[in-house]
Amino acid sequence: MASPSEFDIIKRYFSFSSASADSAKRLPVPLLGVGDDAAVLPPSDLPLIVATDTLNETVHFPKYFPARHLASRAMGVNLSDFAAMGARPRWITMALSLPTLDTAWLAEFSGQFESLCQQYQLALVGGDTTKAPLAISLTVIGEAINGDYLRRSGAQVGDDIWVSGSLGKGAAALTLEIHKADAFCSELTASDRDDLLASYYAPLPQLALGQGLLGLASAAIDISDGLIADANHIAEKSLVGLQIEAERLPIHSAVRCNNDVAQMQHWVLAGGDEYELLFTAPPAKAETIQALAKSLAVDCTLIGKVVEGSGVELVGSEWQSANQRGYQHF
Ligand code: ADP
Ligand code: MG
Repeated sequence: MASPSEFDIIKRYFSFSSASADSAKRLPVPLLGVGDDAAVLPPSDLPLIVATDTLNETVHFPKYFPARHLASRAMGVNLSDFAAMGARPRWITMALSLPTLDTAWLAEFSGQFESLCQQYQLALVGGDTTKAPLAISLTVIGEAINGDYLRRSGAQVGDDIWVSGSLGKGAAALTLEIHKADAFCSELTASDRDDLLASYYAPLPQLALGQGLLGLASAAIDISDGLIADANHIAEKSLVGLQIEAERLPIHSAVRCNNDVAQMQHWVLAGGDEYELLFTAPPAKAETIQALAKSLAVDCTLIGKVVEGSGVELVGSEWQSANQRGYQHF
């Protein structure tokens, strides 16, 4: 049997948005989707929001990473940027580099990708498929709800600093997944282990929280490079200082159990891959934010204050903020 061509692959594995548009009525329908030289999208009255993220094998995920996890991780990481903008994703394109045409791999990957598109009501409208070391780059296109969106700039002196979820899990999960090491916690429970690995395989983008924060938060970012590094982005863009109280940081229970205190602190302050939202808001909004968090069943913790000055300062403990710059590619 002749091996499938690039066009067979695209037709078989990446044309599901045109096929499923009718059955799943909630999916947006492009004017022209996969199969032409470019996609054509219907006009929107709202400002468009666009974000791209690339995942390369051995840089962003290990060799032999299961196809379904790659689909989930790529989608989660990309949608996390939309969460940080408080935006609604609608369309997606995919640049996929494959070293070989492995139909079993493609079936698993596209099956998971399609179910995520259904879950998030996204239409895959185009892409590119090439032969090269395994990599996936997604571009998500969406709209600013009511014309509004969150930014890194906008934090005001006196604002509270908040973080969603728990911290340190990205780095702990990496230790588990890449180094197959769980010795950092002698009492790691099965549920903590599952939780850590799930957060690595399928980061959960805080889309509902981000959208709920429109009109409440003064600035926001998603934590992909590490708490301190990403807090610094808000400080720089907003021309303020961020004062974070180490004692208040919500540390994941599996991370808190790490006996190596220096490593535990490093995971919390500089570990990337958290995909939680870090945001600022006036103190007058605190109750509304707590109510929002409760209604979404997402923890939101107040961790500090926006102050005059610049940079990020960690206060009130023995914690060292030196050398906690976070992940940098270069
Ligand atoms: P061209 O050579 O004109 O760039 P391609 O052969 O690369 O066209 O792609 C054919 C069609 O398939 C295009 O509509 C493109 O957007 C789509 N496509 C290619 N790869 C993917 C993919 N991985 N996911 C979704 N659509 C894809
Ligand atoms: Mg092409």
